Amino acid sequence: MTAYSYPLLIKQILATPLANTPDQEIVHADTKRYDYRTFARRVGQAAGALRSLGVGEGSVVAVLDWDSHRYLECFFAIPMIGATLHTVNIRLSPDQILYTINHAEDDVILCHVDFLPLLLEISERIERPWRLVILSDDGVFPEVESSEGEYEALLQQCEPEQEFPDFDENIRATLFYTTGTTGDPKGVSYSQRQLVLHTMAVAAGLGPVPGGGLNRSDVYMPITPLFHVHGWGIPYVATLMGLKQVYPGRYDPARLLGLIEKHGVTFSHCVPTILAMLLNAPEVAQTDLSNWKVIIGGSALSEGLARQALEHGVDVHAAYGMSETCPFLTVADMMATRDPQTPLSARIATGKPAPFVQIRVVDGDMNDAPRDGRTTGEIVARAPWLTQGYLKNEAGTEALWQGGWLHTGDVGFIDETGTLRISDRVKDVIKTGGEWVSSLELENLASTVEGVSEAAAIGVPDTKWGERPMLIVTCCDETEKTYDRLRMAFDVAVDQGAISKWAIPDRIEFTDSLPRTSVGKLDKKALRARFI
Ligand code: ADP
Repeated sequence: MTAYSYPLLIKQILATPLANTPDQEIVHADTKRYDYRTFARRVGQAAGALRSLGVGEGSVVAVLDWDSHRYLECFFAIPMIGATLHTVNIRLSPDQILYTINHAEDDVILCHVDFLPLLLEISERIERPWRLVILSDDGVFPEVESSEGEYEALLQQCEPEQEFPDFDENIRATLFYTTGTTGDPKGVSYSQRQLVLHTMAVAAGLGPVPGGGLNRSDVYMPITPLFHVHGWGIPYVATLMGLKQVYPGRYDPARLLGLIEKHGVTFSHCVPTILAMLLNAPEVAQTDLSNWKVIIGGSALSEGLARQALEHGVDVHAAYGMSETCPFLTVADMMATRDPQTPLSARIATGKPAPFVQIRVVDGDMNDAPRDGRTTGEIVARAPWLTQGYLKNEAGTEALWQGGWLHTGDVGFIDETGTLRISDRVKDVIKTGGEWVSSLELENLASTVEGVSEAAAIGVPDTKWGERPMLIVTCCDETEKTYDRLRMAFDVAVDQGAISKWAIPDRIEFTDSLPRTSVGKLDKKALRARFI
């Protein structure tokens, strides 16, 4: 007898909801709703359709779509036939998108009609032969000579594939590119094994706590684009748990709030900007958000934003991760924050390591910084699902994995309770007269000041001090009053010992809007270019 060695594969994620909650719904905005049985059948049909285009083990299939049920189908169908899902960042420039398509060596591209003009504009410069499938919400799409047809029609022609083969669990399942704010985007990939382990760890790490956390009764709607670290991997978790899932399509605040209300959404995740956009939308006044739990990641959750969310009854927590880490690394202690006496700072803390994650804060020689809540260093990590390297980029991989630990490029410290707090990105720390000033700390302080909508701190070169802090603020109140309040807040923070006097920004500038990266984060590179 030979024991069966069970590989960890994406197909297994789908088995549990089919057994437990086959009637549960998956919804795409206002265009589609169906149950998990139908979902599984369509995944089988999508697999068949892709096979008919020659897709199989080792192929790469790119998707350019809004967040939709189709995208979720691709999350499964593509890896389940041994191919790699390349989630294309539709917010990159056309040249960067072209770069990623060529670099990934895409064989088939599934493209929503809205992105066809962009794709056709660069298509002549795609280096390898490729096949096009058009995605459309309403069956309306332009004639494109070289296309294989429309996704829905292709699915209808296929009998669903029922039995999916086993593969080596280390086979590549997903591939996407970092946002490339400096240099070319870098390719990051994950195996089926890594995604399965990540799925289980997220389910456990965000899992139920009394009155909170991610539960089997939740209604899930991502507000992180599915191209951003495969929607932070949470669509796989929601599927494993058999939750009702709502895919919102394009992000428009009124529509997102409408979907939360209409479908009773209880669990989402997004970057801070998106939460701010929703909380500041006029429609929020008519939307009941008191059953909504939100995980904020991708950037620090400021105290000001957390407070605003809590005022609307939103149960908000920070989590931390990055493209290279699948992304889950840490989450704020949801158990502690059930206690109303727990200070807000616990919700916005970068948090504690997720199951199976090891986090260290180290100096340049990889010595651990003392866990004293003060001493900063670079955050390095190990976990079963960290990317093993950048695609076709040995130098980048070596730098990422120096000393056998993944270097996050983030600076932080750990306190006596084991809670991690990020103080900055290595490249954003403001170095003034030999002291390090945390830009996140300044931004957090500014977020609590009345009148401030958003704040960004950057270092401005200074002949005497090396750099001096500057604060750039968007404001929904009179600027003069807000300016005075900010000055006062910094003085009080110095008096209380919360920041050093060197951290007080020399300049405070007001602006209408802050520049954003392709995934909605503050773009400090663009800010420096604009203000320095
Ligand atoms: P990009 O580097 O283009 O922003 P990622 O989405 O990979 O792309 O971002 C990862 C980075 O986002 C982390 O290295 C960290 O700097 C930041 N980040 C993520 N979560 C948090 C958090 N909870 N607090 C502070 N910064 C965070």
